[in-house]
This record gives sequence, structure tokens and C-alpha cells, in this order.
Amino acid sequence: MSDSVSDDLVLVVNAGSSSLKYQVLNPATEAVIADGLAEQIGESSSRIRHDYRGNEVLVEGTLVDHNAAIAKVMELFEADGVDLAGSGLAAVGHRVVHGGRSFFAPTLIDATVRSEIERISPLAPLHNPANLVGIDAVSALLPDVPAVAVFDTAFFHDLPDAAATYALDAEVAKQYAIRRYGFHGTSHEYVSRKVAETLGRDYGDINQIVLHLGNGASMSAVAGGKAIDTTMGMTPLEGLVMGTRTGDIDAGIVFQLARVAGMSIDDIDVLFNKNSGLKGLCGENDFRAVLERVDAGDDSARLAYDVYLHRLRRYIGAYLIELGRVDVIVFTAGVGENASPVRADSLAGLENFGIEVDAERNAVRGKGPRVISTDTSAVTIMVVPTNEELAIARQAIEVVAATE
Ligand code: AMP
Repeated sequence: MSDSVSDDLVLVVNAGSSSLKYQVLNPATEAVIADGLAEQIGESSSRIRHDYRGNEVLVEGTLVDHNAAIAKVMELFEADGVDLAGSGLAAVGHRVVHGGRSFFAPTLIDATVRSEIERISPLAPLHNPANLVGIDAVSALLPDVPAVAVFDTAFFHDLPDAAATYALDAEVAKQYAIRRYGFHGTSHEYVSRKVAETLGRDYGDINQIVLHLGNGASMSAVAGGKAIDTTMGMTPLEGLVMGTRTGDIDAGIVFQLARVAGMSIDDIDVLFNKNSGLKGLCGENDFRAVLERVDAGDDSARLAYDVYLHRLRRYIGAYLIELGRVDVIVFTAGVGENASPVRADSLAGLENFGIEVDAERNAVRGKGPRVISTDTSAVTIMVVPTNEELAIARQAIEVVAATE
């Protein structure tokens, strides 16, 4: 295989609030040529793992901001491969967290699109500014490669009004663009399409509940290929219990913490987003460690697990009703793909709803899409690994091809 970058490759950039994930891949063959992760950007203990064709390089040190991280990543590409600048990448795909009401499809980035992403940044103050730094830094280094923004909110752009609207003073909501946008859309769409493809069914004919259970977690109800509800809202804080986020919480708690505990809005933001969820309940946001402690009889880990499960089951119930007929329930992301007890416990006792997990199939570890329901289960239960980078690369290349 040639080491040169061909026209078929896409660089995917996913700039998080303190991390930067990237991949160079061929969306047609799904081959990943290089990938990497810069973590703890903005802290003294930043590190980058860069992998090119199986050769891994680790760099430790301080990355003061995303600009520094991207400059370092570009150095690694130059020193260790792939030589990005010297060859013809077909596209760069950028994950952009918030598309507001403006974006509902992957979009070629030009000056107007860039300023619109900037205009809606107050909706996602931790994420969109980092995404913009990624866009600017990569386009400065690769000015001739078309760049495409793929929005995490896009799949949920057409949620029905009843699902998207908060019962808030309508004028205030309108003025500040407050509504439910939903996130993880690239994953929900990729996984639900993969379900249809794997089962040989028409995407438009099946109703699905998609559980994206990672460190961040969200669930969606997808009716005939269209999202009709999702658990994340105006921000990724709403919905399921997550690694470090509360998920649903009584907004009155904000007033209580401000008035009685004297906490600032920023303190509460950090508390709800970074120090709550599983971590807040038992000190641990790595789900493997939570499960080990549950098995060892640890009370706080047990409560964390029970609260996590309670919330999941509440939404599964809600989405069964919203969809009316459910053909497939599908689990994805780190916890959903790997934690068989979560899959079993979240669907336990639902035989009357035609939902039967097969214990043996559920226990088998595997890499690809698989069915874990019994042969008699009316609802097909599946595990489908998500692949947001592949989805972003495919969408980026489609947009570029359409504009050529
Ligand atoms: P993600 O955000 O999709 O990368 O998922 C990260 C979460 O998946 C973390 O909480 C991990 O602990 C969890 N996870 C990864 N592998 C496993 C596993 N084998 N069993 C349980 N949880 C896992």
C-alpha cells in the first residue's frame, strides 16, 4: 500500500472543550491511516497520542490552548506521517457541536458559514469556540482543502415542536433561542442507518430507540428515519445520567444553590457538567470501575448504578409510548457497546412489551453490529458500534463531491 495521501482521504477533526481528536481515513474503504488524541488542553499535563499506520508516538507537555494543540498535531503529521500538506486530501470534516436553527445539513465552510457558527456560539460556549479554533487552524495550514462542518444537532433539527419546546415564557425563549436542539446526532443517525442496513430493512420503515451510552449519554426515538424525540436539550446537560453530568435536574436546584449555598453561575455550571453524574454520586466516571465496585458491594457505586438505570428505563418507557410501535432498540458507544449488565438491566422485565434480551447473546463480546434479543422477542435488540469519524468523513466527501 502506498504511504502517500490519496484524493480519497479525509481528515476529521473533533475539537472538544479540552481535547482534540482526529483521524485521517478513507471513507470508501473505512481504512484509518492515522489517528490521534490531544487531551487536557489548557492544563500543564497535556498529552498527545498520534498513530500512523500502527506506529504510536506519545508527546507530553503543556498545550496552552487549541491553537497550540493543532500546531503540535501538524508537526506530528509532518514528522511521523501522514504528510498532509504535501498531498491532496479530498476534504477536512469538522465536528461542530451546535448548529442552532441555522444548520441542518453538512455545510461547506466559507467566511459566511464561519461567522454564522461564531454567531451561534453563545448556545454552546464550551464547544463551538473550540470547534472554530480547529476550523481556523486547519484552514490556515491546509488552505486549499475544502472544509465541511458536520453538526451534532443536525439530525434533531426537525424535532416536532411539542418535543423541542420548553414550557418557558414564549417571548423569552424566542429572544434567546431557547429550545431543545439535541446532540450526538451524527452517532444517532449513523447507528440507526446501520441497523436498517444490517437487518436488510428499509430505513424509512422501522421505528427505533437508540441509546448512545458513552461518557456523555443520550437516547433518541427515531420513527421511519426521522428523530421525533431525544434526551439532550438546549445543551448536552439534559436527559440521562452521564459520566460527569447530572442529566435532568429540577431547575429550582439552581436557585437553591445560588441563594443558600452562595454559588456563582459558573460554579454551578462546573458542578452540573463536570462534578456530577456517576462521578458526583460515587467518585467515578469510568463505567468499568463503577461496575467493579458494584460487584464488590460498594454502596455509593450501587446507588449511582441504580440512579443511572432508573433514568434510562424512564426514557425507554416514554419512547415506547411516543413511538407506539418499536421495531428495534439499539445500544452504542463505550458503555452501550461493552457493558452487558447495563443492556440486560435496562430492558429487564419488559417481556410484556415484546422485549426479551437473550442472556447468552448479550454476554458475547464482539466488534461488529449484532442482535442480542431472543428469537421470540417482538422487538429486535441490537448492539451497533458507533463511528462518528466515518460518518463525518462520508458526509464531508459527499458535500465536496456535490459542489464540484
Ligand atoms: P465513550 O464516551 O463512548 O468513549 O465511552 C466511554 C465510557 O465507556 C466510559 O465510562 C468507559 O468506562 C465505558 N466503557 C468502555 N469500555 C467498557 C467496558 N468494557 N465495560 C464497561 N464500560 C466500558
